[in-house]
Amino acid sequence: MGSKFMITVRKLKLTIINDDETKRNEQYKFIRDSQYAQYQGLNLAMSVLTNAYLSSNRDIKSDLFKETQKNLKNSSHIFDDITFGKGTDNKSLINQKVKKDFNSAIKNGLARGERNITNYKRTFPLMTRGTALKFSYKDDCSDEIIIKWVNKIVFKVVIGRKDKNYLELMHTLNKVINGEYKVGQSSIYFDKSNKLILNLTLYIPEKKDDDAINGRTLGVDLGIKYPAYVCLNDDTFIRQHIGESLELSKQREQFRNRRKRLQQQLKNVKGGKGREKKLAALDKVAVCERNFVKTYNHTISKRIIDFAKKNKCEFINLEQLTKDGFDNIILSNWSYYELQNMIKYKADREGIKVRYVNPAYTSQKCSKCGYIDKENRPTQEKFKCIKCGFELNADHNAAINISRLEE
Ligand SMILES: [Zn+2]
Repeated sequence: MGSKFMITVRKLKLTIINDDETKRNEQYKFIRDSQYAQYQGLNLAMSVLTNAYLSSNRDIKSDLFKETQKNLKNSSHIFDDITFGKGTDNKSLINQKVKKDFNSAIKNGLARGERNITNYKRTFPLMTRGTALKFSYKDDCSDEIIIKWVNKIVFKVVIGRKDKNYLELMHTLNKVINGEYKVGQSSIYFDKSNKLILNLTLYIPEKKDDDAINGRTLGVDLGIKYPAYVCLNDDTFIRQHIGESLELSKQREQFRNRRKRLQQQLKNVKGGKGREKKLAALDKVAVCERNFVKTYNHTISKRIIDFAKKNKCEFINLEQLTKDGFDNIILSNWSYYELQNMIKYKADREGIKVRYVNPAYTSQKCSKCGYIDKENRPTQEKFKCIKCGFELNADHNAAINISRLEE
């Protein structure tokens, strides 16, 4: 196992969740006060180091400087008059930061007058340890992400569903929640429009680069019997169906029935609390169903990418979706657009290129001799070429054709 990491910082918009408005305001104030305390602490600690440096004739190897540096710790008296936020671990973060900044100032020419001593601004983001940020979903049936922090503060991550990075960000945060990505030292601040922002530092394990085979393409057919059928362009025997449409339609029918039942019951209640309860239950069903489909799409897309990776594909060919391209009930219900997006960003991560190809005739064309005819498709599931007699599972045949298209 390699232990190489890529460090990346993501900006997240946060709000504090607390039904009690007074408490909520106190919590916002707690962040501002802690930020102020940190600002005082940073500048005090830095001036202590600087004074020792100047008093020892700019000799960082002198006993005076070394001693001063050593004494800069949590119990340092310089912090006595500052009120730090409970649980923020601010003193040790300040000491670390100041020592680090001082060392880099020395390295970068402080002694030669090419650098000034760092002066920390009032707006310097409030540092927090990664371990103090505890990410989770709000509850099982929700895609809202919350972060528990110190002093019983709970943040909600604000991500617009219409945000073009929505899926990618949710995917990243999901990996934070399941522990795949580690959270490093991060910071919190208020931006110019007074919005709370988290600079989230993430340690992302680096992936090994397996070399793709030149031109090898995975064709993905969004099928009837199976949600997806995949096949290689240069070795068509290597193929796989992904998922079962039956399990999907069964599950969705259950949601449909639950909805129907609730709607029936809704007709029978007059109003007030009972009605509100039923409406809330109906909302909950909708959220659960959306989450179910999303999880399903995550599973399917992950399996497609895993298959492409295992077989060292350079490309993945997806069908160009058209508005009226799918008349099949299962297909139109199942959010294919979302599935394609998931495949795309997961492929991007792995360095696999996605091509959107024109799916016209892919189900009627013989993958052996190229003959195109509607009659080649005696049933939904079966492909039989009326010219050369070639027979194959219809989804497999279509996936082969898709894998061979280049635009
Ligand atoms: Zn044929």
